[in-house]
Amino acid sequence: MGHGWQGVALKLMRGKDFTFTVRSNERISEHLHRLTFTDGGMLSATGTHPTMWVRLWFEDDGRPHQRAYTLVDPDPAAGTFSMEFVLHPGRASDWARAAEVGDTIEATVQGTGFTVPDPLPSQLLVVGDPASRPAINSLLESMPLTPATIWFESSDPSDADGIPHQDTAGRRVVRVPRRDGGAELVETVRSSLPAHLDANSYVWIACDTATTRALAAFACKQLDVPKERLYALGYWRAS
Ligand SMILES: Cc1cc2nc3c(=O)[nH]c(=O)nc-3n(C[C@H](O)[C@H](O)[C@H](O)COP(=O)(O)OP(=O)(O)OC[C@H]3O[C@@H](n4cnc5c(N)ncnc54)[C@H](O)[C@@H]3O)c2cc1C
Repeated sequence: MGHGWQGVALKLMRGKDFTFTVRSNERISEHLHRLTFTDGGMLSATGTHPTMWVRLWFEDDGRPHQRAYTLVDPDPAAGTFSMEFVLHPGRASDWARAAEVGDTIEATVQGTGFTVPDPLPSQLLVVGDPASRPAINSLLESMPLTPATIWFESSDPSDADGIPHQDTAGRRVVRVPRRDGGAELVETVRSSLPAHLDANSYVWIACDTATTRALAAFACKQLDVPKERLYALGYWRAS
């Protein structure tokens, strides 16, 4: 499958292409599949960093359909990693539901990149949902002793179960039901985040694009969180 104009643009931006092969596909819950892959040489070529993600190329009626997914437990020595696919109606979800051992998928590495702040922040203030859970886990693992408050939005209370917080001192998950297209999360975070914030906090936000935009603007414009202490990226577009 060609990658159309998006593939050409990524090539111009020095995107690197790889082919992954499915090693296993496990249905974890009603809303989640975990797939493991061999990396087609990617990890030794690119290295790894916290919250690392890649662009996967799916097919949509013969047209290229590119979506981002986060690496889980990347192992450069073995050339393997996993991915966790949240299930909803969509091409990427459909592919994950049906993927079988030996299936391949093309991927481009471009645009990912996150560096652990140095010096370490006093605390992490994180806002996310099931699509960003793999990235949240990776972020927390990259700063294992840093306290964190995680506002986690989901429609299903069991969705937050995979966040490593219960046995780690100083980490707290605030569960927020997804209501009114994310409005409840925006309201909850706007009313409670200011009381947590100090000058050395690091704010990390990855939810649907509208929610992410609203909360990033709030942190930046109303709370004066400096750019180097704020990361915000919309992970999916609500329709
Ligand atoms: C950097 C980055 C890393 C990401 N990592 C992961 C990851 O590790 N695991 C993961 O599951 N997702 C991850 N995502 C989100 C994923 O790329 C999107 O959810 C994507 O839209 C799924 O594509 P699709 O083809 O299944 O659905 P689309 O064709 O994009 O959308 C189809 C329908 O599904 C809805 N939809 C899409 N995503 C969601 C969602 N998450 N929840 C509810 N409804 C949704 C849309 O509103 C639309 O109505 C990441 C996104 C980014 C930007």
